[in-house]
Amino acid sequence: MQYRIKLVLATLAVFVLSGCFPSNDLARQEYYLQGKTMGTTYNIKVVGENVDTAKLQQGIDEQLKQLNQEMSTYIADSELSQFNQSTSLESTKVSKGLARVIKEAIRLGELSNGALDVTVGPLVNLWGFGPEYRPETVPSNELLASTRARIGLDKLTFENGMLAKTIPDLYVDLSTIAKGYGVDLVAEFIEMNGINDYLVEIGGEMRLKGFKHTGELWHVAIEKPLSTERAVHQIIIPKDNAVATSGDYRIYFEADGQRFSHIIDPETGKPISHKLVSVTVIHPSSMTADGLSTAMMVMGEEKALAFAKENELAAYIIAKTDHGFVEQSTVKFMQYLK
Ligand code: ADP
Ligand code: MG
Repeated sequence: MQYRIKLVLATLAVFVLSGCFPSNDLARQEYYLQGKTMGTTYNIKVVGENVDTAKLQQGIDEQLKQLNQEMSTYIADSELSQFNQSTSLESTKVSKGLARVIKEAIRLGELSNGALDVTVGPLVNLWGFGPEYRPETVPSNELLASTRARIGLDKLTFENGMLAKTIPDLYVDLSTIAKGYGVDLVAEFIEMNGINDYLVEIGGEMRLKGFKHTGELWHVAIEKPLSTERAVHQIIIPKDNAVATSGDYRIYFEADGQRFSHIIDPETGKPISHKLVSVTVIHPSSMTADGLSTAMMVMGEEKALAFAKENELAAYIIAKTDHGFVEQSTVKFMQYLK
């Protein structure tokens, strides 16, 4: 049986359209920082006067390094990896960063009725998208059932900064909101350094504030849902918010002509397979936007729209139909459309 991992090089779901207007305030400049983290790249723009970019970037890299040491499942001795490897059911005190992400993961898991489930890791690995291994075939029903028995947010407890598992081999995978959290962390660090006009992007997750050096608001483009090329689908002006896009057209593998997404539906234990191709969410927090967009991707079109309405979310979804792509946005999202 053949399979193929298709990692589309352009991991950016959204990218910035840089304006080319002359600046009115010559002292204010746009500085550009670029680097690597979490298996992807970051792109940061800050606007200010005489910004010490080397010092700023060093601080940012330190923040991101700490984040990875706390919650990367690709680092064997990260705090989260140690928790995953441990078979103890005793509760343990976790770092502030990990606590913040775990708390939000549990909140979003409950809000989404289990669509976002950070204990889904064994299934992610089973389908070949985790750090462990890549399967050559589609897993058997037996293996699927025994793996599903190991997942569920009810097997994870977090109280007063203390984290515990109720089964020895529970595995927590925060990769779906860790990038978003990284964006929030960097944005907060930039603000702590007195800069209030910026754009932070890590692997497609983005958060913006203020204005470009030209005095215009930041513009962001949502990509066309094609895995073969990059093209602009819709331009948005998110103002002081984060933008997250979840889409199954960027990372997947094919077996027997069927396409398997890297997003798992915890209810079936299988990669999602429906007509929803991408969900974009605008929210003040990048971590929240990141988690919500993935959760809605799991839900599928109808449930996602109902969920967005119920929770008054700014969401934009693209679905594939026989007549091409159809997009829908919630009332709250419309204010951001250009
Ligand atoms: P997207 O950008 O498409 O939302 P992310 O990288 O944010 O994708 O999240 C997908 C990752 O999250 C997967 O690679 C997997 O590790 C994990 N994951 C898959 N399904 C779920 C789920 N239902 N809940 C939480 N995490 C998931
Ligand atoms: Mg996501």
